[in-house]
Amino acid sequence: MEKERTLVLIKPDGVQRGLMGEIISRIERTGLKIVGMKMVLAGDEILDKHYALTDEWARELTEKSKSTAEKEGRDFPFENHMELGGMIQSRLKKSLSEGPAIAMIWEGFHAVQIVRKIVGHTEPKQSVPGTIRGDFLLDSYELADKEERAVKNLIHASSDLNEAKREVGLWFVEEEFF
Ligand code: UDP
Ligand code: MG
Repeated sequence: MEKERTLVLIKPDGVQRGLMGEIISRIERTGLKIVGMKMVLAGDEILDKHYALTDEWARELTEKSKSTAEKEGRDFPFENHMELGGMIQSRLKKSLSEGPAIAMIWEGFHAVQIVRKIVGHTEPKQSVPGTIRGDFLLDSYELADKEERAVKNLIHASSDLNEAKREVGLWFVEEEFF
C-alpha cells in the first residue's frame, strides 16, 4: 500500500476569517504531513483547470444540489447538468480569486479520504458538527443561489485519488515538495 497525496485549498473566505491555523491544526493532528504549502492569488489560468467543466464533475455536482432541492421541496430549474456546472464554475472562479488562498499538499495513508472526512459535506447546512464545514460557518445552496454566488465552505479538498493526482500536479511543481 502506498501513501497518498491530496490537495487542500483554504479558500479566500477561510483566509479572511482567520481560520488558517485552526484548519491546519485539525488536519495536522490526524498524523498526515504537509509536504507543500504556499499562499496564492489564483487567476483564470489555474482556476479554469482546477474547476474544469467536465461532464463528470458537472453531473456529480448537479446530483448533489438536485437531491437537496428535492428533499427541501425547492424548485430545481436546470434543464441539464452542464448548464448548472457552467454557472457554478463561473461563481467559483469569482469567489476563489477574490483574495489569496492557501494551497497545501498533505501526505499519508488514505490521505484523500481522511481529509474529506474532516472537511465535511459540501453544503455547510448539511455538514455535521465536528467537521470544518460543520463547525465554522452557515451557508446553503438556497442562500447561495438566491445571492447568485458559490456556496461558501472555507476549503477545497480533492475528492478521490484521480482528482488528487491531477490537482497536486496543477498547483505544485516538483521543487516545491519537501
Ligand atoms: N458549489 C456551489 N453550488 C452548487 C454546488 C457546488 O456553489 O450547487 C460550489 C461549492 O463551493 C463547492 C464547489 O462548488 O465547494 C465544488 O463543488 P463540489 O461538488 O466539487 O464540492 P466539494 O468537493 O467542494 O465538496
Ligand atoms: Mg469537489
